[in-house]
Amino acid sequence: MPSSRHQKSPFSMTPSPSTDTPIFASEEEINSFGKYLHSSKRILVLCGAGLSAASGIPTFSGDGAHWRGHKCTSISSIDCFEELPGLVWKYHAERRKLALGAGPNRGHEALAVLARKKNGVRVLTQNIDGLSQKAKHPKDRLYELHGSLMDIKCSNKECDYYEKDNFKEPICPALAVKDAIENFAPTARQSFNDKASTEEVGSKLSELTLKDEKENNEKTILKPALKFEPRPNPLADIIASLSPIMTDEMKAEPVPDVKDLPHCPKCSSLLRPAVVWFGESLSVPQYNEIIAWIDEEKRLDLMIVIGTKGEVFPAGKFVDIAKEKGARVCVVNMDKSHLGTLTAREKKDWVFEGNAAEILPVFFEGILLN
Ligand SMILES: [Zn+2]
Repeated sequence: MPSSRHQKSPFSMTPSPSTDTPIFASEEEINSFGKYLHSSKRILVLCGAGLSAASGIPTFSGDGAHWRGHKCTSISSIDCFEELPGLVWKYHAERRKLALGAGPNRGHEALAVLARKKNGVRVLTQNIDGLSQKAKHPKDRLYELHGSLMDIKCSNKECDYYEKDNFKEPICPALAVKDAIENFAPTARQSFNDKASTEEVGSKLSELTLKDEKENNEKTILKPALKFEPRPNPLADIIASLSPIMTDEMKAEPVPDVKDLPHCPKCSSLLRPAVVWFGESLSVPQYNEIIAWIDEEKRLDLMIVIGTKGEVFPAGKFVDIAKEKGARVCVVNMDKSHLGTLTAREKKDWVFEGNAAEILPVFFEGILLN
């Protein structure tokens, strides 16, 4: 067994909770990855809920994640917004309140510093909590794949009203929140070691991913001319098959009147959070920009996957694309026995099991001190 590492934090924004870092890998593995990270010029990072867990942000994406007794995955859908906009707004108002009250952890800070120190770093986050921005991550090196709870847009597709960084709390009187954390408590408690029942979703997604890969010529994917074609999100169908989208309990939840929800100052339609819901596609221009950056040079040195199984299409595709470009892969996750398709790794890759808020500063320390 390796000895416990005594770690001095290079970060000053938040104090280290402990001077002893939990054992998450052998010295040999840590050194091997550290050396490679140091020499890497082009690095792509994909982040998921595991990165924000140490900031007290619950996991929302698994089938086991609930809010007020309703499945989060059922509420985070365009179908639900169209039918029950008051419920969807109430849910997002509570998530906004949680995110506004949370601070970035040392994992967010470590990534932000890495991106500032190395020009060739691009971070893709599936989190919508805005914590990477709070950690002062360089804006041009951060892509919020699923949007942000702090951005608001018009629900009318013909209208271009878009509000960036709306930190107003409450966003309107009818959506005032008093006890957000209580309503998320069951999932919040799981967030550090979330083994919630996501397997069913995960395995169905894996099947779809494999099917999708068979249908696509992977060499075509790497051509710079590739443009992301908007397509129906397969996850919407999966969620529908797992649970009814709108249950009677959801319909019975007390919510504000539609007239009291935020409305567009330009066209009077309902406003909505500028996040990507199930049943919607990622931003096409953003996706193309990421692909263009990847293809700027022949090679990508390293792909780091933090706190996510990378199975939600098309975020997970980036791992495959990075591998095709020669990248070695490093996975940082609380539970390495639930890595889905990421389990199929090569010998040259790394998997580190533990809390990203503790592991990332250890890896990036050398770079920060240089
Ligand atoms: Zn509008």
